[in-house]
Amino acid sequence: MDFVANSDRVRTAQSLVSGSRRAVALTGAGVSTESGIPDFRGPEGVWTRDPDAQRLSNIHDYMADPELRQRSWQARLHHPGWQAQPNAAHHALVTLARSGPLRAIVTQNVDGLHQRAGSDPDSVIELHGTLYETACLTCDERRGMREALDRVAAGETDPPCLVCGGILKSATISFGQALDPGVLSRARTEVEACDLLLAVGSSLSVHPAAGLVGLAARNGARIVVCNATETPYDDVADVVLRGSLGEVLPALV
Ligand code: NAD
Repeated sequence: MDFVANSDRVRTAQSLVSGSRRAVALTGAGVSTESGIPDFRGPEGVWTRDPDAQRLSNIHDYMADPELRQRSWQARLHHPGWQAQPNAAHHALVTLARSGPLRAIVTQNVDGLHQRAGSDPDSVIELHGTLYETACLTCDERRGMREALDRVAAGETDPPCLVCGGILKSATISFGQALDPGVLSRARTEVEACDLLLAVGSSLSVHPAAGLVGLAARNGARIVVCNATETPYDDVADVVLRGSLGEVLPALV
């Protein structure tokens, strides 16, 4: 990683931040890798290491295959997110909201670490849902994840919904599932109103989340991409910062 804290690019990004009146951060799994939660597509990503693991995040496979659901429940039971602590990148975004222009964090993450770092929960828009709840795929009953994990730990390999007996899943958006229209609309409103979008720790390959970068650019916002590897939106960005987010984001605040 070629991050140099006093480079011209960092100074340009710093001046974009200090000149902004209304900024939005669009965050992805890369923000949480330094907290011990692997991303999907980075060099050490879950799917980079095991392409078959993608099936765990596909709603059609999940509904059709009871064995895959059992694997999913074991993965949730042992998810690194339960032990993870917010890192310097999460904390930098808290600072950027308290004493800077950051108004909203639109996150693809499901780990709740922005809120645990101290970001105002009302300012965190969870585009892809949350790991901290379950949702029934039949009756849409929402309950706490802890209850389902306790049932798994007690021997239920694929715990059904306690209300209707339907298939339960984490309240996260899998591939093949639509985003909550109200949540997406809130995210679009924030992005359309911002004058600076920080795209942080995301491969920017999952839509419609990634398309928010193009939306911001079309509305005249300046774009700063902070990511260890290339993204399809690097060409749209005013500045691209490579390097570890635990160093890059604190350098911006
Ligand atoms: P992604 O895996 O596609 O991309 C992550 C990007 O972050 C990669 O390009 C990688 O190079 C970069 N990166 C990783 N660690 C970094 C670091 N320390 N510093 C700088 N860059 C780093 O993730 P995505 O774009 O968020 O999209 C994939 C989907 O993954 C989302 O839908 C999200 O819900 C889900 N996901 C979430 C979590 C989480 O909640 N923590 C974890 C894994 C996957």
